[in-house]
Amino acid sequence: MIYDLIIAGSGSAGAAAGYYASRAGLNVLMIDAHHPPHKQGAHHGTSRLIRYAYGEGEKYVPLLLRSKALWQEFEQTAGVKLLHPCGVLNAGPRGSGFMENIRTSAQRWSLNTETLTAKQVQQRWPEITLPEHFCAVYEQDAGYLSAESAIEHWIRLAREQGCGQLFNCPVTAIGRQDGLQKVTTAEGEYFGRKLLVSSGSTVQTLLPGLPVTPIRKVFSWFQADGRYSENNHFPGFSIELDDGSQYYGFPAQDNALKAGRHDGGQPLSLNQPRPPFGSIARDGSECFAFLRQCLSGVGGCLYGESCSYDMSPDEDFIIDTLPDTPDCLVITGLSGHGFKFSPVLGEIACHFATQGQLPDSVKPFSLQRFTG
Ligand SMILES: Cc1cc2nc3c(=O)[nH]c(=O)nc-3n(C[C@H](O)[C@H](O)[C@H](O)COP(=O)(O)OP(=O)(O)OC[C@H]3O[C@@H](n4cnc5c(N)ncnc54)[C@H](O)[C@@H]3O)c2cc1C
Repeated sequence: MIYDLIIAGSGSAGAAAGYYASRAGLNVLMIDAHHPPHKQGAHHGTSRLIRYAYGEGEKYVPLLLRSKALWQEFEQTAGVKLLHPCGVLNAGPRGSGFMENIRTSAQRWSLNTETLTAKQVQQRWPEITLPEHFCAVYEQDAGYLSAESAIEHWIRLAREQGCGQLFNCPVTAIGRQDGLQKVTTAEGEYFGRKLLVSSGSTVQTLLPGLPVTPIRKVFSWFQADGRYSENNHFPGFSIELDDGSQYYGFPAQDNALKAGRHDGGQPLSLNQPRPPFGSIARDGSECFAFLRQCLSGVGGCLYGESCSYDMSPDEDFIIDTLPDTPDCLVITGLSGHGFKFSPVLGEIACHFATQGQLPDSVKPFSLQRFTG
């Protein structure tokens, strides 16, 4: 059997790709080393933020807006709530690159945002204290996604659409044979006209030449009462401090507020398992100084988890075909901000498998930018 598309790594981007490609009538095989959703990759821990006024750069906004429409459509199809528009508060020192990108994105794309001073933030959310010289942009349409649930439903619907699924089966090598893409696994070899490599932070085991560094990150849940809940209109947040450190978090659920630090982390070795939460002394305390300064009513750390980022050198995505293999698409380098894009990444992979081309919207994410 020759597949139209084989997907090596069916986590976030790969699960969505399996759904869109099988919906388009393609003969698809999804492969994963584990059974997604799972805790070994980058998509666990219940929730992921989705923001459209984008601090990481205005070039992402077209993809974000398409993603939003696809999330809404997929909620209808799957019959499940995945997108929770609880609002997101972005804040940082006035003039920081992150805040400037948010303003530019909001202006150019007429996004629904409000600019607030530190004082206005505290009037609206007495739980949040920002230094006086900070500016804030509140985006009420932004919010969070139910990440593991989304993956579960992409996989379920892909299966119902006739997609082949080979889970708990690592891909050990990829290559070419007789003009086809060849994928080697413990269970045998598979052949496809097109191949998507979306294997997350361990992508270099299959493609050692890619400029992607796996980084270990943690997030933790902290004691927080009803004032911090979505019911009380407490928002998601993304806050940069004066020293450049960046923190994000979510409205509390069941008296636990999830927060994490976006910068920093520890480089991971490809052939060793990721150390669990708590194996590094500062895992439970890296948000303390931030919480004390900005959310001083939040209590102690209850528990946490470790997770992986696949960092590209400029922290921008890599969405491109391999230079010598135009039938192989890689989606990687999502650098800790990719989940919200999963549906549009899945749609791009489907477009690639049907048309043999990538849309213009992904030009900023080419591999060429690293070679000049
Ligand atoms: C702590 C943390 C917080 C984050 N917060 C946000 C956020 O708020 N908003 C946001 O948008 N993004 C966020 N992200 C980033 C986002 O979750 C990731 O960018 C996204 O999930 C990555 O998708 P992926 O498909 O590349 O990887 P994954 O979802 O990890 O999928 C990769 C899959 O490949 C499989 N695989 C690996 N190797 C092989 C192999 N050899 N053979 C077969 N299968 C293989 C894995 O088992 C896995 O299922 C966060 C990430 C972390 C870790």
